Amino acid sequence: MRIVNRSGRLSVVVDAGRVVDVAAASEGRFGPEPQAAYERWAEFVDWAAGDLSSADHVDLDLDLDTLDAPAPRPSQVFAVGLNYREHAEEAGLDLPEIPVVFTKFPSSINGPAGVIDLPKGSVDFEVELVAVVGCEAAGVTAEDAWAHIAGLTVGQDLSERELQLAGPAPQQFSMGKSYRGFGPIGPVLVTPDEFADPDDIEISCALNGVEVQRTRTRDMIFSIPRIVEFLSSVATLRPGDVIFTGTPSGTGWSRDPKLLIGPDDELVTSAEGIGRMRHTFRQA
Ligand code: ZN
Repeated sequence: MRIVNRSGRLSVVVDAGRVVDVAAASEGRFGPEPQAAYERWAEFVDWAAGDLSSADHVDLDLDLDTLDAPAPRPSQVFAVGLNYREHAEEAGLDLPEIPVVFTKFPSSINGPAGVIDLPKGSVDFEVELVAVVGCEAAGVTAEDAWAHIAGLTVGQDLSERELQLAGPAPQQFSMGKSYRGFGPIGPVLVTPDEFADPDDIEISCALNGVEVQRTRTRDMIFSIPRIVEFLSSVATLRPGDVIFTGTPSGTGWSRDPKLLIGPDDELVTSAEGIGRMRHTFRQA
């Protein structure tokens, strides 16, 4: 199943470019609010698997600016750093023995298209596969982890590097990555069963039409199941929480010369089987 947030209304994608409005088609059994669906995820998946052919279908261009984040108001946003070997090497850092975790504050979550304000400093891109939690997870093993994931989407862990790396360790990762609009996710949320292998998905991004990052998620140091196992050994993951799973090599800050996002730049962020986001930037 694939869902989208269409101007704040939860919708199921029924075939290429056509969606069903959940509140209307379910006659109010489920409300329009996308974030609420995760609280009753198993029941919602059951309903959506039924016959939606008699429901009103709405034509929708999945690249349109009318789409918002598929999990717009998570209670928690977890993010994993240094989760690809070549990215840890380009950052000049040792490989982690347990996942390196920080947060993007939930107010940074943003939709899959639109204009993002650039703060002062050095703003960089980080394409990442993003998992959304489908039911409460506390003390979950890696073997059971996928059963706790509602679906996958693609995200950008946008980062202002000067604030992120300011001061002595531990530095300001969570602040440097939480500027308004710095956590875009979308355009759709795809359930894990839709992928041939949810642990092996190609992700990439392009700045002004030039590809800058590309990898497959099988190259993660810590897979999504191992990330869920580690996170849930400490914190209780709640339905609708968002997990950024780490970025591959190619980030702009580690290049020589550095490649930073500037005003009027266009960033296109893609994942196999999920689709693409498109953002432009302006000076705040
Ligand atoms: Zn990141």
